[in-house]
Amino acid sequence: MADRRKMTTSAGAPVPDNQNSITAGERGPVLMQDYQLIEKLSHQNRERIPERTVHAKGWGAYGTLKITGDISKYTKAKALQPGAETPMLARFSTVAGEQGAADAERDVRGFALKFYTEDGNWDLVGNNTPVFFVRDPVKFPDFIHTQKRHPKTNLRSPTAMWDFWSLSPESLHQVTILMSDRGLPTDVRHMNGYGSHTYSLWNDKGERFWVKFHFKTEQGHRHWTNAEAEDVVGKTRESTQEDLYGSIDKGEFPRWKVQVQIMPEEEADKHSYNPFDLTKVWPHADYPPIDIGVMELNRNPENYFAEIENAAFSPSNIVPGISFSPDKMLQARIFSYADAHRHRLGTHYESIPVNRPHVEVAHYHRDGQMNTYGGIATGNPDAYYEPNSFNGPVQDESAQEPPLKISGDADRYNHREGNDDFSQPRALFNLFDQGQKDRLFANIAAAMGGVPGEIIERQLALFDQVHADYGNGVRAALKAAHGYEANAVPVTGNTPQNAAE
Ligand code: NDP
Repeated sequence: MADRRKMTTSAGAPVPDNQNSITAGERGPVLMQDYQLIEKLSHQNRERIPERTVHAKGWGAYGTLKITGDISKYTKAKALQPGAETPMLARFSTVAGEQGAADAERDVRGFALKFYTEDGNWDLVGNNTPVFFVRDPVKFPDFIHTQKRHPKTNLRSPTAMWDFWSLSPESLHQVTILMSDRGLPTDVRHMNGYGSHTYSLWNDKGERFWVKFHFKTEQGHRHWTNAEAEDVVGKTRESTQEDLYGSIDKGEFPRWKVQVQIMPEEEADKHSYNPFDLTKVWPHADYPPIDIGVMELNRNPENYFAEIENAAFSPSNIVPGISFSPDKMLQARIFSYADAHRHRLGTHYESIPVNRPHVEVAHYHRDGQMNTYGGIATGNPDAYYEPNSFNGPVQDESAQEPPLKISGDADRYNHREGNDDFSQPRALFNLFDQGQKDRLFANIAAAMGGVPGEIIERQLALFDQVHADYGNGVRAALKAAHGYEANAVPVTGNTPQNAAE
């Protein structure tokens, strides 16, 4: 006992008694002067920070990215050179559920990676799917509202989801993936990750190449059916946390093969699809994936809140040799992710240890919440503006990327006009065997419980355009699950629309 560390207040003063508060007499009341009690209660009141609006429920671990291939002719990024080994952090998540949501839910999984490179942090904030539901960021908040709770009932609303999807044909590709086997992975070790957006690589000669990043699970794919997931959730709501933490704790380190698809800059205009459209993949036949290395997760965090809840990933974090593309969704996320962290964690969220680069930072940002840079990160108190004569840090022109060659008139271009939203979901549908198709139909029918008939019919018309078997398969599954006949209205759900009927 004698050599145990002694408790202190947060100001470092010794705490003489952590069992009994100070009261005026044995029966109370407590005194205002019991600052240790007040400090303890006020800290408890502040333990929660705002949960993420999306991707609130998450699981994470540290690891290493090892580069074994050679793509040095495409990029000068130090972390992508042959033989490079870069420490990293991964955070996986579901999209719609709140922080306490069950893990085994049908939902897209976030696949966010932070690489602590010699040139600062490089973040790839991807998903377990190569595409997304919308291609124009102006639709993103609307889409997320349909996934979250109805403002009046406070319930999730299948009506809102299918209303939005059926009015947004660009969602078909992602809806098909979400409702397929891969829409409910057993855990995060048994799923792929995709950078999803098109990024770019640039080399020492100033040449730019478009790139897609892929992370292929070496554990194999594993999914649950809806019925299996219901069983799991009945037993544990933390199945993914248990799996990821448990496997790393046992020394079973999950690995992903890292691949890139590379498109020469001038080829962007030659395809029928827009290579910067987040609802589209680049077919492997056009751009075969190139193996470049392995990502392994091998260390659990010591403190979930400090290292995973506080982890802040943003596509704005790029390093020399890696850059952006015209992808509209990417451009919006470059703003909105960093903005979300400033709101959620504070202005200087990148000074929190898990977010802190492994290289020294040297900037002229001043003051602000959570400024733990010792006041100013220039190494000299007189160098608090730029340019200065006090040896303050200066720009590094070697980090200047080649110009992004884009041109066009500023306008609101209709992203639905003339856009083929059906061929790629069809290519995916054609990859499914009959069992996979049957489960797809059944999952969609299950998710449509309580949705008004006109919305179902609008969605069926979209499935028909992907493949006649798709629409008809869902019709048959709707009949089996809900006794649904064309244009009939099932009224089994709790949506406000049904309540009004
Ligand atoms: P490919 O046949 O070359 O596509 C193969 C890709 O499809 C692989 O990445 C594979 O992932 C994935 N895939 C295979 N079976 C399934 C399944 N049951 N559910 C989900 N994904 C599956 O043809 P294309 O490149 O032309 O792509 C065809 C369709 O495959 C696309 O429209 C898209 O929906 C989907 N896809 C394509 C990807 C791409 O980058 N081209 C990436 C992922 C999906 P794995 O290797 O892990 O088995």
